[in-house]
Amino acid sequence: SKSAVVIGAGIAGIASAIRLAVKGYSVDVYEANAYPGGKLSSFDQARPGGAVYRFDAGPSLFTMPHLVEELFRLAGRNPTDHFHYVRLDETCRYFWDDGTRLTAWADHQRFASEVETVLGEPGEHLLAHLNDSALKYGVTEKLFLHRSLHKASTWLNRDALRGYLNLPKLGVFGTMNGANERRFRHPKLVQLFNRYATYNGSDPYQTPATLNIIPHLEYNIGAFFPKEGMIGITNSLVNLAEDLGVRFHYNTRVTEIVTEGKRVVGVRAEDMELGAEGIVLSAEPSAVNTPGAEPHAPRPAPIALCVTNMDVVNAFRKLLPNAKQPERILRQPKSSSGLIFYWGIKREFAELGLHNIFFSNDYRTEFDYLFRRNKLYHDPTIYLNITSKHKPDDAPPGCENWFILLNAPNNTGQDWDAIIDRARQDVIRKLSHNLGVDVGSLIETESILDPRSIESKTSSSQGALYGNSSNNRFAAFLRHANFSREFENLYFVGGSVHPGGGIPLCLLSAKIATGFVRGT
Ligand code: FAD
Repeated sequence: SKSAVVIGAGIAGIASAIRLAVKGYSVDVYEANAYPGGKLSSFDQARPGGAVYRFDAGPSLFTMPHLVEELFRLAGRNPTDHFHYVRLDETCRYFWDDGTRLTAWADHQRFASEVETVLGEPGEHLLAHLNDSALKYGVTEKLFLHRSLHKASTWLNRDALRGYLNLPKLGVFGTMNGANERRFRHPKLVQLFNRYATYNGSDPYQTPATLNIIPHLEYNIGAFFPKEGMIGITNSLVNLAEDLGVRFHYNTRVTEIVTEGKRVVGVRAEDMELGAEGIVLSAEPSAVNTPGAEPHAPRPAPIALCVTNMDVVNAFRKLLPNAKQPERILRQPKSSSGLIFYWGIKREFAELGLHNIFFSNDYRTEFDYLFRRNKLYHDPTIYLNITSKHKPDDAPPGCENWFILLNAPNNTGQDWDAIIDRARQDVIRKLSHNLGVDVGSLIETESILDPRSIESKTSSSQGALYGNSSNNRFAAFLRHANFSREFENLYFVGGSVHPGGGIPLCLLSAKIATGFVRGT
């Protein structure tokens, strides 16, 4: 059968491999790391005495599970036999330094009455906001998420026409913060809903109100937890891919996409040229001219197509340096990055849930630091995720696995070691204040991920979590298409291209890209 190569086993690469295998391709996935999943991976921390804490390395919030299930169905499998998850009753617990605590319930009425009781905000304001989010989502979904923005057919159909009529409702012209300030009286609720801008690494004070579609995912479609932890998504999809015959080659970093005319013919990984069926085509080309060197093996058939899951900036700069570089897109400002502390904590906290937020007292200044000054603010908003709340074997008995994420500027060469030292103290101070204990003394294991290591572990340009930022109203049009304009059998997937970052959109990128590919 025809041979396809996927560069990178991030979630979009794995999904692309599955979709291509279902279309009848013989698929090889080359992955630089020793493990699959990219940002969506997992690791353990050993505690003195032998027990371990398990951590999901990156994503912690799971939305739109149907996009994972769709892959099983496509392959003729029943998803419930292979992938298990639960719907969450509470989406997040919110904490403020003044002692205010609020739980966001999945049930709208319950959340509305919580908002009334705790903040005195009329419940209808919340319900109207969630309705509006659903409406905006309905318009954007068909127009932006399921289709390529880069094909005329997207703009010339009935859904698109309906989309144009509804454009004024999308809030393209105002900011998310502006819309939320008009909606809510209480500044804490404005802050709570402004936080959704960070779901794709943007700034609520700059990003258009269109991004108010994001709460729809969490409150209307729902927030979920995979029973095996987030890594369950990666593992179950890798198993599915392997079951369909996909070959994963780990510790194999692709260094060049080999092209001839308008087509990709193979890829080069370090000193090997790889062709159809993962066969090594040749050693370094320099060998050809070395007197006495073995002549090249006859060239096997070129590959039928290539999908790259590598961050698009690095794909062009490193793998396709001689191709036409789409400079305007590649130079767009990047989304924010993250600073993550993974702590094994030798105590349990009944007041904490799976998802917890400890808000900054000055959100606007925090974003000013992140996006304008490229620094971390000394009173950061802290996201604390504890999977052992739902999966007790992720921590030893009586303990919890704390994943602490701070939004961080992307990497422009800051003094990260100094920033991390300072942030660690700020986090311990703020959490200790809110929880009434000395959190520092409870940390028994620790590791840290910062924009530098995000960049080196997953090849993300500047360590950005979600590719380009969406702070600009035209951002959706300034992401790279899911296909190449120069090479007819080259496709792009993952968080740095259309439709954007985050697991659901990465899965959609694979759907759109492979949708251009004919079955064998
Ligand atoms: P990536 O995960 O970026 O992986 C790319 C893969 O390609 C890597 O494995 C890399 O090694 C490999 N690769 C790159 N170049 C090469 C090469 N030349 N040769 C071989 N292999 C190569 N999303 C959510 O939905 N919910 C969340 O709660 C959430 N939280 C996040 C928290 C953190 C800390 C981080 C880091 C991300 C978070 N995200 C979240 C975003 C989400 O993780 C990403 O958008 C998504 O996982 C990116 O997937 P991807 O397919 O683009 O590939």
